Amino acid sequence: MIDILPIRTQTTTASRLASVNLSQLEFGKVFSDHMLVVDYRDGEWQEPEIVPYGDMAVSPANSALHYGQAIFEGMKAYHQHDGGVALFRPLDNWARLNASAERMCMPTVPEELFMQGLRELLKLDAAWVPSDEGSSLYIRPFMFGTDGLLGVRPSDTYRFMIITCPVGLYFSKPLRVRFEQKYVRSAEGGAGYAKNAGNYGAAMYPTKVAQNEGYNQLIWTDASQHQYVEESGTMNAIFVIDGKVVTPALSTSILDGITRRSVLALARDMGLPVEERKVGSREVMDALAAGKLQEAFGVGTAATIAPIATIGYEGHDYDLPATDAKAFSKRVSAALDAIRTGAGADPHNWMVRV
Ligand code: PMP
Repeated sequence: MIDILPIRTQTTTASRLASVNLSQLEFGKVFSDHMLVVDYRDGEWQEPEIVPYGDMAVSPANSALHYGQAIFEGMKAYHQHDGGVALFRPLDNWARLNASAERMCMPTVPEELFMQGLRELLKLDAAWVPSDEGSSLYIRPFMFGTDGLLGVRPSDTYRFMIITCPVGLYFSKPLRVRFEQKYVRSAEGGAGYAKNAGNYGAAMYPTKVAQNEGYNQLIWTDASQHQYVEESGTMNAIFVIDGKVVTPALSTSILDGITRRSVLALARDMGLPVEERKVGSREVMDALAAGKLQEAFGVGTAATIAPIATIGYEGHDYDLPATDAKAFSKRVSAALDAIRTGAGADPHNWMVRV
């Protein structure tokens, strides 16, 4: 990696760290002291800056607010057993950010800018990386159009930023979910594989409906038939059916999750059969009825592994069998934790030291 110049940095004179209890954190509420800001104009990225975290001025006519030209990433850095800080698969997030950028007619971010921005920001705010079990520093890179122009066309100017927040465990209890058979998150040919802001705004209402019915989140199904599993809330869905690790194959309507990728790699390392294919909601329910559905869980950066305890299907709730310490979800979760905290080996070289 080429080192770009040290990033111009304005450090805070009033750190908020002392006022934060890093052992009691609500997800996404407390932000670290600094943020990275880079503007794009005249066809190129300008000089990046690290500044104290805070509000900023933008045009009220910007294309992110009006037409959703906004994308983001979600990734984490972990306190290491030996005291340092390391990022989990940051280049995968960088590549996905750029895939989202292309889908939304936005400029891509050079690798050196992304990586050096991350490193310098994290070095400065290293004390914000919590060390309690299950905690980490959640990192939110994002980009949005900044032209002050109401025309429906790609903005000429953009801002790329990185903000970070210390987080604890995401879900505390196994999930109650239900298959969604009315609304859709995305369709083949749409932008579901991208992390553009609009995908998330549009998912809130169906999620709220399910939550009002007593579920934590829903399992999205395909747009044309409502028969095949897509994702589970903002996580990829994985099932263990008859000893096989089964998950929907990627498509333009599914986000290519980095946790999903990692869990499948570890499953293969453990010698388990892995199937990436269409997974029918009927198939899942039939497997459950036949006692062959051993586990179901969501996987994503925020939650890591979120076991599903109950699935709602056509108006009825069905409980999954209880899992023990030998369950794949437990073993893979422990394996991921060991890699991410540096407690175990990192055979795939996923960790990048800051
Ligand atoms: N699906 C959706 C829709 C998501 O927003 C996320 C979170 N980025 C995921 C899946 C999981 O992806 P990852 O493992 O990269 O966090």
